[in-house]
Amino acid sequence: MTNIKCLVCGKYVNENNYNFNNEAFIDKNKKNSIIYCPFCGASSIYFSESREVYNVNPKEFDESTLKIVDHAVKLEVFNGDFYLEAAKMCKSDKVEAMFKSLSNIEYEHAKIHMRLGGFNNKPVLRNMDYSNYDTDEKLLKAASMREEHAVKYYNKYSKEINNEVLSKVFKILRDVEKIHIQLTLDEI
Ligand SMILES: [Zn+2]
Repeated sequence: MTNIKCLVCGKYVNENNYNFNNEAFIDKNKKNSIIYCPFCGASSIYFSESREVYNVNPKEFDESTLKIVDHAVKLEVFNGDFYLEAAKMCKSDKVEAMFKSLSNIEYEHAKIHMRLGGFNNKPVLRNMDYSNYDTDEKLLKAASMREEHAVKYYNKYSKEINNEVLSKVFKILRDVEKIHIQLTLDEI
């Protein structure tokens, strides 16, 4: 099998990793049918063997665009942190595996934004108190609301930023988060 590159996160997808984070998808990758990137969740229509990974020159960004990308990094780290904690708190093994995979994917999204924005350090956010989410159902509801927020964020700013590549990446990630909404709601 070939080693195909995801143009969104830059990772290579192959027979050793096609099933990574499988629990974070509704339609699963199969060895002979890889339909999304197991790292960032982008559709396989954004795979290429020869094209360059989507890139921008962050020096060309104005201050407001930089702020939007910086906030996108924080949004994804915020959600990645939540899923990591939620995986420890939840009771169902199936939901735990899903939360772990979702956490990996959200952190990958943060890395994509860091690369595009030219940011070197992953932000450390303050510790949140999740103790109110004392059932799997509450955790899943909170998850779906975070995903809704992410979809709204990407929708709004993909239209406002005047950089074609960045806008495209925002729309691709919005579509990944849309799947996460359905995935988390399906478990309730
Ligand atoms: Zn990817």
